[in-house]
Amino acid sequence: MIRLKSYTLHNYKEIPQFDSISEEIIKDIEVVGHVLPFKTNNYVVDELIDWSNVETDAMFTLNFPRKEMLDKKHYYTIEQLIQQNADKSEIQKRANDIRLTLNPNPAGQEHNVPFLGEIKLKGVQHKYPETVLFFPSQGQTCHAYCTFCFRWPQFSGMSELKFAMKEADLLLKYLSIHKEVTDILFTGGDPMTMSASILESYIRPLFEPRFSHIRSIRIGTKSLAYWPYRFLTDNDSDDIIRLFEDVIKAGKNLSVQAHFNHPVELSTDAVKKAISRIRSTGAQIRTQSPLLKHINDKPELWSQMWRKQVDLGCIPYYMFIARDTGAKRYFEIPLEKCWQIFRRAYRQVSGLCRTVRGPSMSDHAGKIQVLGVQEIKGEKVFVLRFLQGRNPNWVDIPFFAEYDSKATWFNQLKPAFGEDKFFFEESKAKIQVTKPFLFE
Ligand SMILES: *Cc1c(COP(=O)(O)O)cnc(C)c1O
Ligand code: SF4
Repeated sequence: MIRLKSYTLHNYKEIPQFDSISEEIIKDIEVVGHVLPFKTNNYVVDELIDWSNVETDAMFTLNFPRKEMLDKKHYYTIEQLIQQNADKSEIQKRANDIRLTLNPNPAGQEHNVPFLGEIKLKGVQHKYPETVLFFPSQGQTCHAYCTFCFRWPQFSGMSELKFAMKEADLLLKYLSIHKEVTDILFTGGDPMTMSASILESYIRPLFEPRFSHIRSIRIGTKSLAYWPYRFLTDNDSDDIIRLFEDVIKAGKNLSVQAHFNHPVELSTDAVKKAISRIRSTGAQIRTQSPLLKHINDKPELWSQMWRKQVDLGCIPYYMFIARDTGAKRYFEIPLEKCWQIFRRAYRQVSGLCRTVRGPSMSDHAGKIQVLGVQEIKGEKVFVLRFLQGRNPNWVDIPFFAEYDSKATWFNQLKPAFGEDKFFFEESKAKIQVTKPFLFE
């Protein structure tokens, strides 16, 4: 039976495959690993990484810190401290300073935190009327850490930024009052790092009649990619499967929002078995991933991924644009290129794969899709639309931004045709005033 073994900065040299790894790569892990969170495990190491090709292997890059992920000056600062044998606390302090320059809490996660009377529900985010996000405090870790991840302050001990809640009670009270909510999305970190019994303590109460308005339970997880044995051979795997079956029996929809970044993550026996086991409960699996340089910036990788997903009975759902945080500069791709990659992949696949939407940016205002680049009466523009809007009335209205070949995020875009604001920008302020409870 296979057991999870984690590798971090303290023990990664025990990874057998490291016998043949260059000193340079090891040094970069040491230096950069002090700033970016670093954790991998035996499944990623033994079944996903191509060790004959670590210099460019996507799965290696996804988990292991590389030199170019930090600014030269930041790299140099930490390198110097290590060479001088500086105090652990000194290195830690400088690493924290560097982290704070990396936009640790992008696009206002701290916004949209709702209230229950006077009490601020810290582990809850309610941005779109129909869906509540919940960050259970026991799920604020993952089976391995992605080097691009914007949730990294949660893993690196910057606790005041931690975005979690201890009690299910407050969440349940909130949901019982808010009848407009149809979906609850458990997220993290990775909620599938929680034990079955903790997960059950959050989910089983939702079967009560007072939550009959909650139609869908969603679980956002990377565990199918990083630890598919979660659904197969962990001590409580069978309890997880039973819980999933019970959600369906309770008449609710269960959707696993699975995070897959690369086709290789869909290639092992373990992941295929895990997908099949989840699907046998009646749960659906929807897939999503950011688009990342050095990981998946080729249309063929996406068309392969979507096809494999459909083969395995999963539903392609979102392609995201990488957020402005952490090692963003290493992973970022200009918006126009994101769109080109999307459409080249999209046109290669059948309609069954075209349930996917993107490329999309999760901004304060909502999820903004880049529909494309077009020339309108001599002006080159981006055509955009909201897939999700802070105000539901904004959704699906095409709008235009000045073309910018370098832009990598919505905040760098200006309205097209000389307008001084986007159509939604006035009402954004208004809605915050009139609905502070929901949209704070
Ligand atoms: C994406 C997202 C959701 C879920 O949106 P769907 O389009 O329904 O999947 C909910 N809340 C926030 C803050 C989100 O970013
Ligand atoms: S699995 Fe998700 S939350 Fe965890 S490190 Fe990767 S992107 Fe971040």
